[in-house]
Amino acid sequence: MSHIVVIGAGQAGSSLVTKLRTLGFDGDITLIGAESAPPYQRPPLSKKYLLGEMELERLYLRPEQFYADQNITLRLDAPVTAIDPAAKTVTIGADVIPYDQLALTTGSDPRRLPASIGGALDGVFTVRTLADVDAMAPACKPGARALIVGGGYIGLEAAAVATRMGVRVTLVEMADRILQRVAAPETSDYFRALHLSHGVDIREGVGLDRLLGDGHVSGARLTDGTEIAADFVIVGVGVTPSSALAEAAGLTMENGIRVDGHGRTSDPAIWSAGDCASFPYKGTRIRLESVQNAIDQAENVAENMLGANKDYMPHPWFWSDQYDVKLQIAGLNTGYDRTVLRQGEKEGAQSVWYYYGDTLLAVDAMNDPRNYMIGKRMIEAGKSPPASAIADPATDMMALMKA
Ligand code: FAD
Repeated sequence: MSHIVVIGAGQAGSSLVTKLRTLGFDGDITLIGAESAPPYQRPPLSKKYLLGEMELERLYLRPEQFYADQNITLRLDAPVTAIDPAAKTVTIGADVIPYDQLALTTGSDPRRLPASIGGALDGVFTVRTLADVDAMAPACKPGARALIVGGGYIGLEAAAVATRMGVRVTLVEMADRILQRVAAPETSDYFRALHLSHGVDIREGVGLDRLLGDGHVSGARLTDGTEIAADFVIVGVGVTPSSALAEAAGLTMENGIRVDGHGRTSDPAIWSAGDCASFPYKGTRIRLESVQNAIDQAENVAENMLGANKDYMPHPWFWSDQYDVKLQIAGLNTGYDRTVLRQGEKEGAQSVWYYYGDTLLAVDAMNDPRNYMIGKRMIEAGKSPPASAIADPATDMMALMKA
């Protein structure tokens, strides 16, 4: 009987094995995870879970019993150390497990600060796993001083939650503005104003020189020579695809694990999906770090493992929660050459529309679900309304969408 092994028991791995059973696959399935928890959702880690507003079990994508009920062997606390593509085996410690088809859904690893600049001091945290957040939570005490390195979504969400817990937060962003890598200046402006209004000390255009402290972190020196005191530090400087295992097995790499439109790697028996996989998209190659991509790509791979031969076409969307603001993003803004700002109907509601020439690429909507939904539908339908119509407050957006 056929045996499918999946390495990486996260969002994509869980979606892949579940889909295999939904599609009627009745061979053996083994899902292997390095962490001790069953597959769980990460977004609440920097949101409700850190705030203490979400219980552990609610993080789990499915109760642990689900996998047994589906006849899926779930191996936790079991980091795979090697893949032998010629022998078609994976190794966990002394165990060697044979496979007929293998999927790699190993996710991504947070970038860490080098030990030479204080990255190994106690009190320096990353936010990727349940264990990371459980280790950091006790430091989030009222009156404590936190330094957050990095003004991307993870850093900003952590700043919002820590502030709500009474922590005094300084956030340092090396680029000229927060969210520079992922969003237009209008979106950065919106979130800068939001954080400043909650008392976060945001420093842009200044990097970290080094962390200070003896054993435990006590502060930081910035590249402009300023020194700031900190009781703990959160490092949110991006992730790298978790692809070392695949690389050591000789698979082709290109910004992570290279897969074709079906999710197949350079080895015909090995597939990949989620944060770790780069795939062809509109004449280029991209890698997405989002829940929606992890689920949809993994489900596509499950179908293709069973012979569907279906190309993966992402319909990107993403969200971020900060204080009482919900940011929703539809589409991919890569390559945009102009933006249009539209005020929403309610106070604080706003959307930023990204264009390349006359083509609508993406929409960022802040507390503006209506314009998010309209933008998303337009992008999915391949419609590009004139930018002038978006900018005009008198435009009936529903009518524009239906036009
Ligand atoms: P993961 O869910 O990371 O799963 C990969 C798993 O593989 C991990 O458990 C890892 O331990 C395991 N693994 C790796 N190597 C091995 C090995 N050798 N052996 C065994 N197991 C291994 N996305 C959104 O869309 N919206 C959000 O608001 C959002 N917020 C986020 C907030 C935080 C704090 C974080 C960390 C992420 C957030 N994301 C968000 C991103 C989203 O969670 C990821 O894109 C998604 O989890 C990717 O799924 P994945 O299955 O590819 O990787």
